[in-house]
Amino acid sequence: MKTVYLDNAATTRPRQEVVEAMLPYLGEKYGNPSSIYGIAREARAALDEAREKVAATLGADAREIIFTGSGTEADNTAIKGVAFANRDRGDHIITSAIEHHAVLDSVKRLENRGFRATYLPVDSYGMVDPADVEAAITDKTILISIMHANNEVGTIEPIEEIAKIARKHGVYFHTDAVQTTGHIPVDVNRLGVDLLSLSAHKFYGPKGVGVLYVRRGVRMERYIDGGGQERNRRAGTENVAGIIGLAKALELAVAEMEHEMERVSRLRDRLIRGVMDRIGHVRLNGHPTQRLPGNASFCFEFIEGESLLLNLDMLGVCGSSGSACTSGSLEPSHVLLAMGIPHEVAHGSLRLTLGRYNTEEDVDYVLEHLPGIVEKLRAMSPFGAEASFGGDSCGKCEEAPQPVAERR
Ligand SMILES: *Cc1c(COP(=O)(O)O)cnc(C)c1O
Repeated sequence: MKTVYLDNAATTRPRQEVVEAMLPYLGEKYGNPSSIYGIAREARAALDEAREKVAATLGADAREIIFTGSGTEADNTAIKGVAFANRDRGDHIITSAIEHHAVLDSVKRLENRGFRATYLPVDSYGMVDPADVEAAITDKTILISIMHANNEVGTIEPIEEIAKIARKHGVYFHTDAVQTTGHIPVDVNRLGVDLLSLSAHKFYGPKGVGVLYVRRGVRMERYIDGGGQERNRRAGTENVAGIIGLAKALELAVAEMEHEMERVSRLRDRLIRGVMDRIGHVRLNGHPTQRLPGNASFCFEFIEGESLLLNLDMLGVCGSSGSACTSGSLEPSHVLLAMGIPHEVAHGSLRLTLGRYNTEEDVDYVLEHLPGIVEKLRAMSPFGAEASFGGDSCGKCEEAPQPVAERR
């Protein structure tokens, strides 16, 4: 059976050129970059070259690049590192309700350690209002962290505007650019950010390697203690092969960006239009235009996203649902809830994310099969009959029985 991979926001298939660039460093070029003999110096030189390349791509200086073990580690380091280093200046952090858990849970951890946090709301498109950011700043605010684009619904946030506000008030600004780097332009000076996280496996690089950009002069403690690697800011022997792979993947992604943005956006729009035209009682999640080229996110009323995923999987289609299935929780996505989507509708979410290996045939394969799957599931659902009458869906939602815990 064929596989149609439409979960590129979760991870991407590493490019062949990336794998080949990494291979020598998994084998014969195994030297520790901190040692002094030949094979070590070779690893050091490759590492330095990778750092220069990544810095140039982001408009940064090589000394502002810290290689980390993941996007998650970059987020944790930025938030906890800045908070702990600036405790004497204040104890307040501003973030949004729709951040990735790497950011949200880092901020929650700090709340448990005596810091205070503001979680800004978003509008129905998942957009943060820069005016809300400015209104939340106090003289105790030390850090603002707002993501460049959301991983679930694809909305691109007004980072430049927020950065200007942060700078005006002398507050450090971090952005999680894990979903945007390699897909849309990311330049630390154009964005105006002080710290920025990215992760290789989201742009056709290897898993387990990321970058934290830290603007010169930013007061930040290190998060991983040990040796003096990464100019004393992230201990641990460098993942040389991973870093080489990250730099190669980023170089290729940037070279092809303009063309790929165009091509993938066209596939996305074909998918979105096809779904909206063929299926009733479906909503597009996220902003209609300010969205990632590859992101198509929907809520199908009267059904469970999980059942949709299982049925798509039987056809070889890989997608994802906003609900936190991995944790066994029945709680729908915090992102969809923050956008004001009702609980029962949020349960029917489906995220399909396109990437460089997808074709029109992939999109058409989904469009051919998805309407039948939705119809079948709705016929089985207790609310399916009502759905097929085409009545007012919102009224039906409110009548739907809910678990006691969810009643307000
Ligand atoms: C994937 C992702 C992360 C985590 O990156 P890892 O390298 O998988 O740890 C953080 N933030 C966003 C927005 C992501 O999409």
